[in-house]
Amino acid sequence: MLLVLATRNRKKREEIVAILSDLGLLFGDLSDWPNLPEVEETGTTFEENARLKAIAVARGTGHWALGEDSGLVVPALGGAPGVYSARYAGRQGDDEANNAKLLAELAKRPDADRSAYYVCTAALADPTGHVHVVTEGRCHGRILDAPRGSGGFGYDPLFLIPEYHRTFAELSPRVKHALSHRARALERLRPWLRRLVQSNSRMGVPSDSGVGRPSAET
Ligand code: IMP
Repeated sequence: MLLVLATRNRKKREEIVAILSDLGLLFGDLSDWPNLPEVEETGTTFEENARLKAIAVARGTGHWALGEDSGLVVPALGGAPGVYSARYAGRQGDDEANNAKLLAELAKRPDADRSAYYVCTAALADPTGHVHVVTEGRCHGRILDAPRGSGGFGYDPLFLIPEYHRTFAELSPRVKHALSHRARALERLRPWLRRLVQSNSRMGVPSDSGVGRPSAET
């Protein structure tokens, strides 16, 4: 059973595959469909963008697709960088510039303004582009005043998990995958994915049946 991940972000792909590795799914991603047009992230919420990605990729590939949209929310900055996390400083995916901008925005603010959380929204669409379920996970932490660690990606070197006294870039992937917004969103998706794998192995052919009915949508 092939599940296409609607992303070109290698780090995201690695994390999703690691978190869902026990389900017996085969994973593809947009690098396997180089001719598929880029999905425009025109939504103003994580959910809208996750749906857009899942629907476009499911229809474009003819397979079940997982759309994932995620980002960092700093309430003291009015929710920024939010859905614009990947392009906060202007250029898509420039982690260094994004982190520098975040540090500058928080520089002269009180410590209390450094509370932040990551959000991940995951949408599962069948090959016709029908979305069966949308889940969300959050992970709370604080923004440091200088980066620490070399793991993870994006804002991880600045994102401190207070209980561990370490940033996501300092913690092992095993710990990040137990705590992260992505892990929490995908754990909520797990029952639907498990049912999908089971229904496909019973039928022996790719199918759009089995996983939650429209009523399963949240
Ligand atoms: P998306 O690809 O449009 O969902 O944008 C995701 C962006 O949010 C990334 O480029 C990062 O800037 C940020 N982000 C999301 N999840 C993480 C994470 O787990 N660690 C660090 N940054 C993240």
